[in-house]
Amino acid sequence: MSIPVIDPATLETVATVADLGPGEARQAVDTAAAAFRDWSRTAPRRRSEVLHKAFELMLRDRDELALLISRENGKSLADATGEVTYAAEFLRWFAEEAVRPGGEYGSAPAGGARTLVSHRPVGVAALITPWNFPAAMVTRKIGPAIAAGCTAVLKPAAETPLTAIAIVELLVEAGLPDGVVTVVTTSDPASVVGTWLDDPRVRKISFTGSTPIGRILLRQAAERVVNSSMELGGNAPFVVTADADVEAAVAGAMIAKFRNGGQACTAANRFYVHDAVYDTFVARFGAEVEKLTVGAAADGAAIGPLINEKALVRVRAAVEEAIAEGARISHRAADGPQTGWFYPPTVLADVPATAAILQEEIFGPVAPIARWTDEEELLTLVNDTEYGLAAYVFAGDLRQAVRIGEAIDAGMVGINRGLVSDPSAPFGGVKQSGLGREGAREGLREFQETQYLSVDWGL
Ligand code: NAP
Repeated sequence: MSIPVIDPATLETVATVADLGPGEARQAVDTAAAAFRDWSRTAPRRRSEVLHKAFELMLRDRDELALLISRENGKSLADATGEVTYAAEFLRWFAEEAVRPGGEYGSAPAGGARTLVSHRPVGVAALITPWNFPAAMVTRKIGPAIAAGCTAVLKPAAETPLTAIAIVELLVEAGLPDGVVTVVTTSDPASVVGTWLDDPRVRKISFTGSTPIGRILLRQAAERVVNSSMELGGNAPFVVTADADVEAAVAGAMIAKFRNGGQACTAANRFYVHDAVYDTFVARFGAEVEKLTVGAAADGAAIGPLINEKALVRVRAAVEEAIAEGARISHRAADGPQTGWFYPPTVLADVPATAAILQEEIFGPVAPIARWTDEEELLTLVNDTEYGLAAYVFAGDLRQAVRIGEAIDAGMVGINRGLVSDPSAPFGGVKQSGLGREGAREGLREFQETQYLSVDWGL
């Protein structure tokens, strides 16, 4: 059995991959469990060297990998190339962190015992990744798992398995021993991941995807109290204050909204623009949106298709519902080709604060813009969501920007910036956007467990 990988711009089949089931999932754990003893005892410097070499190989193959990402995911070549660089940076960052596993030596306050604290690899890790960043979501998990000394089984999204397979091949070329990471492709994610969560040898799950699937996996993980990291959905507000530099805010909005055609968990999902600059912002932002070209990456378009038909139907319905609730389309880019799941970048103005589109993750190139005047009311609206991943604030007065940023319930806030992702910063959300952090020192800790020895040396 095999799964076709479809180019969402042309609907052509790019390749097929094996459709594996619970039997192969169990075998993958056999492999990872067998490799764990040696890999967890491999010197941190050696693990670091493998990761660093893989970082170099990703950059060597940057153009090829970018093409692969564009073909299976549809994103523009510029976005795909940016993603390869970003993804490779996680390997470099964790190559640097691998040699700093940490540890402490202390004395018990009452005297006598000494405490030796160490951070050990948690064990075999199950990694599950989404389709929207086929490279970066993989390296953001594999990097720290390998650095910590874990072995892993990886299930990439069914839409984008090719990039994951290519990255693991580069790791092997860089010297990663056989069995440390095994990729399992499947059209039945529930049974593959369920098999892993039932297996007592799997001690860790690191999942990136939607909040509803994250909830299911947390329930399953609870059965065996599996160590869980969850990077889930978002509903990022983008706030523009009365004294913001409107040109800078427009430039930030173009990145925050249209990177990956809006298919990013950190994508600006709802815009709150102060009444004093509302009309200017909508006009300037709208003019930039109308310039965006929609089409296949191969044709040099800025905005690619949505990932599949289901996504297209969902985005269309969200826009129609917003219009029925009182919003209006103020600006729109030209339509893309008829083949493929294209949706033109669209600005919705005069969106009522109660509109459903402000509550749901749009995951597409649509920018709904609401108006605000009172800061307290703004903060109530901004925090009225189950999500808390990213947020953006554009303001002239930095004190106001920081005040608003600190009052927003979100794991990451961009201040006068439309991009928050950075391998050296702790990426993650609060509320139902997730548990744990990726990148930074925290990313390594997610794959470690703390142990201490309480030693009576008779001192
Ligand atoms: P998804 O449907 O939750 O899928 C994510 C992964 O989970 C895929 O590999 C999927 O496999 C697998 N999966 C689906 N059902 C499963 C089940 N019952 N048991 C086990 N695994 C299952 O999410 P998506 O549509 O691919 O990605 C978009 C979502 O991811 C958005 O909500 C976005 O915000 C979120 N996201 C979050 C972050 C973050 O860092 N917080 C980053 C990127 C994306 P299949 O592909 O086979 O369905």
